[in-house]
Amino acid sequence: MSTSLQGKQTVKILYVEDDPYSQELVRRVLQPQGYDVVLASDGLAGIRLAQVEQPHLILMDINMKHGLNGCEIATRLRGIPALQQTPIIAITGDVTDGNRESTLIAGCDGYITKPIDARNLPDQIRAYLSGHRDQVPEAKRQLYLQEYNRRLVERLESKVIELEKTNRDLQEANHALRKLDKTKSNFILLLTHELRTPLAVIKGYAELLLLDNPCPENVVVPPSYLQSIESVMMAVDDLTKIVDDLLNVSSIELGRIELNLGPTSISDVVHRALSQLSPLSQHRDLSIELLKLNSLPSIQADAQQLMQVFLKLIGNAIKYTPDGGQIRIWGRKKDDLLEIVVQDSGIGIDPEEQHYIFDHFYVLEEINHHSSSQTAFMGGGLGLGLYIARGIVETHGGRIWVESERYDETRCLGSQFHILLPIAVPTDKS
Ligand code: ADP
Repeated sequence: MSTSLQGKQTVKILYVEDDPYSQELVRRVLQPQGYDVVLASDGLAGIRLAQVEQPHLILMDINMKHGLNGCEIATRLRGIPALQQTPIIAITGDVTDGNRESTLIAGCDGYITKPIDARNLPDQIRAYLSGHRDQVPEAKRQLYLQEYNRRLVERLESKVIELEKTNRDLQEANHALRKLDKTKSNFILLLTHELRTPLAVIKGYAELLLLDNPCPENVVVPPSYLQSIESVMMAVDDLTKIVDDLLNVSSIELGRIELNLGPTSISDVVHRALSQLSPLSQHRDLSIELLKLNSLPSIQADAQQLMQVFLKLIGNAIKYTPDGGQIRIWGRKKDDLLEIVVQDSGIGIDPEEQHYIFDHFYVLEEINHHSSSQTAFMGGGLGLGLYIARGIVETHGGRIWVESERYDETRCLGSQFHILLPIAVPTDKS
């Protein structure tokens, strides 16, 4: 070690200390002496830095307030093969008999008393770097070792008790949160059921008003009056879709999706979803191509629910693909599964977001992009679509995921949503 001091190599000292004033003092004294001083403010950071930096000497504050204390860190550092020869020097304010020895038993090679004497410190450091070591008298070694082990086990015991209590508190908090979440889902379920009835009534009366029958023959209905009623009906349809989505979310959360299973043709389901979406997306100049769907075998599924899935996926493909883009939907049989893919040439999704977009209320775009339109380019919705799609697919015993290189609004690298569905739904789902 002294050779490296005399040579060109800088001697590195790691100082583990939670008190910033002591850190500053040691740095100011040792740096002008040519030492490279690395600081760590807690024990775990100290252990990490010691392994990375491989210092020539470690100064260790013994009485750190949080986490591992200095003796425990010294014991841990001593167990690291690369640090077995590195001098570890305790810095302690408690110089009573027994305390000094404990630091040596724990793995330190010496101690420097606190408050640190700035004039003496460089000499003390030089001595330890040159090989000086403080020793515990051999006769007392066994006694101190037993005492150190006893204190270590006591600390461990109190930590285990603390941890068990934290664990219990967490379990209780978790239980309370689950209960609250269930109450919320039940409330949304009831609320949406209640909202459906008045919505149906409004729609019914609006339809009635559109019929000629209630008007006497000689009464001329102005066109603006009819347009107003049509607007009311469209608004009711939009509201009904939101209510239905919320209802679906609650049913998924409560595990209450009911499947009405029957032989289902994926090609029919996709065609029906497209015919619902195409009047809305006509203004978007997108080419939509269906490949190999006709040749797929029919599966045991709930056609109505699966249509929801394709409405969401194709609706998203339309929303997140700029005008002039392409959407392709294709499928293939894979053993006893069908794989269906909805691919677009849209803005894509970053890999780190791909898992989260299937969570409810998770939207990637800014809230100010929110649009009530189902097809406007990048018009974000409520963030329920993919959650519902996943819930329905998983209730069928299937799987859904997305593949996309990354999000890029300019290069539009596209996304592929994959669905795997069993051809015959597992018996416990049917
Ligand atoms: P929303 O109703 O807001 O569209 P979804 O649950 O359907 O909610 O989608 C969640 C988020 O995933 C969207 O806000 C969007 O950012 C992203 N996303 C979904 N589909 C696509 C897609 N085909 N291309 C790019 N991003 C998409």
